[in-house]
This record gives sequence, structure tokens and C-alpha cells, in this order.
Amino acid sequence: MADSDRPLTTEALLCQVRQHLESLRLAGVQWMPAPRPLDEATAVVEPGEGPEKEEGQPPTEGFFDVQPAGEPLGLDERRQALTVLAETVSRCTRCPELVATRSRTVFGVGPVAAELCFVGEAPGADEDAQGEPFVGAAGQLLNRIIVACGMKREEVYICNIIKCRPPGNRTPLPHEAGHCREYLERQIDLVRPRFICALGSTAAQHLFGTTLSIGKLRGRFHSYQGIPVLCTYHPAFLLPHRSPEKKRDVWEDMKTLMARMGRAITR
Ligand code: SF4
Repeated sequence: MADSDRPLTTEALLCQVRQHLESLRLAGVQWMPAPRPLDEATAVVEPGEGPEKEEGQPPTEGFFDVQPAGEPLGLDERRQALTVLAETVSRCTRCPELVATRSRTVFGVGPVAAELCFVGEAPGADEDAQGEPFVGAAGQLLNRIIVACGMKREEVYICNIIKCRPPGNRTPLPHEAGHCREYLERQIDLVRPRFICALGSTAAQHLFGTTLSIGKLRGRFHSYQGIPVLCTYHPAFLLPHRSPEKKRDVWEDMKTLMARMGRAITR
């Protein structure tokens, strides 16, 4: 009898289940439906026959915790979970128009536990080609801003609110940003930066669910999940053919951010 034909021992089966649950936990899964009795699980349920669900009721009864409460993931586990999340995103098909036109998904770049995380709008043509956020002209300008702040690009985490390039670099539609929100939330939760800098009105408005303009949001701190967030203009807006005069405002914003981070800039 081939090894693959032998029935699994209880111990081997339990080991496989434990490994599977651990990989789910690392991927961020915190609860799963409890198994139903076999006769109930195999019964055919006609539409409208299922158990009634009370609206707004949290999924507590009938579910079990994969990740015990109060046991935060370590750095290696967060790195691993980010990798799993990036793989999940790379297979995502929630936005049919973007899926049809993207070359690849653009997840994010930077170290876990980065002190600062930049959140932009969406990948453009260069990002779509290379699979990394902020590598085009706006990215070069962002690099210069980061260096002027006394930091290196490799020190910060960089991502966008959506992970696929909208055709023609159009602004992400609300439902696309909504589809991708879960990934962004989990991404920020795993990176757990001390500060966030939201770049441009689309990123800032989506993070805070507001319609206020970036002109009104910038220059002061907001809070996302307890993380201080400073909003400023998107680097693409500062390019020579758009509004380079806004560089001065961005520089003031960055000085405000660096001061709060304890990294005073003297110039
Ligand atoms: S933008 Fe986000 S939600 Fe939409 S297809 Fe891409 S990865 Fe999926």
C-alpha cells in the first residue's frame, strides 16, 4: 500500500489541523465557523430555510477563536502574515474592471513596524509595470521628501488605498476603495506604524470617510485606529505641470510631522 493510501492516524490528523489553523492565524483569520454535526452539515437547505440571523449580532456563538485574545503577533509572524496577505491580494478579483486591465497588483513596500507609513491613492503605469508603489515621477519626488526629512525610503512603509491600477490613472471609484479597504486595514494592522502620512485627498478622504478637501484636512493631526495621521498633498500634485507652488505647504506639513515624531528638521 502506498503511503498516500494509508489512513491517517488521529495524531497525524490533529497535527495537520493544527498546522492549518496556525497558517490561518498568521494570515489574520481570528474566527471560524464551528463544525456542524454531519447529518446537519450534509442536509440540503432550501432558500429561506436557513437559521434566522439577528441583524447586528456579533459572530460569537458557534465560533471559536483561532488567535487567543491578548496574544499579539511577533515581528516574524507579522512579516509572514503580510506575505500571505500580499499573495491573497495578488489573486483578488473583486474589481472586474481593474482586474481586466492591471498587469499585477501593487501591495506595498517597506519594513514591518516601520515608524512611518505613507498611504497614497493607487498604482500608476510605472507601479503597475514594476509591482512597487511610488516608483514613477511622483515616487521620485516622494523619495526626495523622505530624504529631506532625514530618513531613507527603506525605513518607511509605502502603500496605496487600492492595489490595482485604475485604467488611464483615473481616481479610484468608491466601490473599488471599499472592496480594497479590508486589505488596507489588515496591512496597516500588521505593519503597525507609529505614524501615518496620507498623501492626497483620495487617500485622506477614504481613510477618514470624509468629503473634506485635502486643503482642509492637511496641516494637523487626525487619528486612524489610534495612530496619528498627518494629511498632505500627493507628490503627483506637486509635479511641474500641476501645482509645484504647493511644495512649500508639503514641507511645512512634513516639518510638523517630524517634530511630532521627535525628528526635528532645522531648515
Ligand atoms: S483594487 Fe483591491 S479589491 Fe480591487 S481587485 Fe485590486 S486588490 Fe482586489
